Amino acid sequence: AIHLLHSGKSRAGLINRFSTVSASQRLAGKVAVITGAASGIGEATAKEFIRNGAKVILADVQDDLGRAVAAELGPDAAYTRCDVRDEAQLAAAVDLAVARYGGLDIMYNNAGIASSSQAPVASLDVADFDRVMAVNARAVVLGVKHAARAMVPRRSGSILCTASAAGVVGNAVPHSYSISKTAAIGVVRSVAGELASHGVRINAISPHGIPTPMAMRGFGDVFPWASPDEVKRIIMRDISEMEGTTLEVEDIAHAAVYLASDEAKYVTGHNLLVDGGFTVGKRLNVHE
Ligand code: NAD
Repeated sequence: AIHLLHSGKSRAGLINRFSTVSASQRLAGKVAVITGAASGIGEATAKEFIRNGAKVILADVQDDLGRAVAAELGPDAAYTRCDVRDEAQLAAAVDLAVARYGGLDIMYNNAGIASSSQAPVASLDVADFDRVMAVNARAVVLGVKHAARAMVPRRSGSILCTASAAGVVGNAVPHSYSISKTAAIGVVRSVAGELASHGVRINAISPHGIPTPMAMRGFGDVFPWASPDEVKRIIMRDISEMEGTTLEVEDIAHAAVYLASDEAKYVTGHNLLVDGGFTVGKRLNVHE
């Protein structure tokens, strides 16, 4: 620093230099488990967490992809198979973080699936409902339970859950998905007060549409006439585009870094919508 001062660099330049260094280590020393981390939002968040100094256990059911992503992320990443529908596997993912790194600071319940039924509620496909709820709602409860088991005794921790703008706005996508995401927000609201008295925070993040494999499958069923390229355009442009910008997985990862970090130390029970105004009345971009 002294060398730089003497070499004529401005003080403002120096401060920027140092704030850039600390800004890239916003999760220094923290240990995270991310479910659904082999792809999409989970993968992008794992990358961003590691870039910010965290150690990350990537939990998913796509073993080859998960291992490849972990290998690419380097020694601070490890993959473990974890089907979030199975409580024992979720418990084991949490226990792995504790055994390997001495504790769990961040649990991101992010794994999710789309509904494959467009049926109106009067003919709701109950098998599809149960399948979607098992991953998008029940598994969130299980993830919260086991994260709390690890975090409460240490009196600190940040739990995140991926919900959806569709959990706030009704009738935008199939009911089973929408209901499951409202439930995920409900989990956060139900337990935040209890966990607050133990120093543990919990928040939801609610994205709008991003063309990840899950969303491509979901919207592919909604628009069966559309080719994959058209489905991608519908999600990115017609549904999600906010004048001048599109929603990317990194935008969700940045929200997750904030909520996981000590910068959000007083923020709990919140649902952070990353939806470009969709839930407050922004119109879809229908191109005639
Ligand atoms: P994605 O398909 O890229 O990733 C989802 C991951 O979850 C996959 O790797 C998949 O293998 C994993 N997964 C599915 N079932 C699992 C199980 N039983 N156990 C463990 N892992 C499982 O899709 P994404 O968009 O990154 O999805 C992440 C989350 O974001 C989901 O909860 C989804 O509902 C939510 N979300 C997505 C969008 C969007 O438009 N992409 C919008 C709002 C919310």
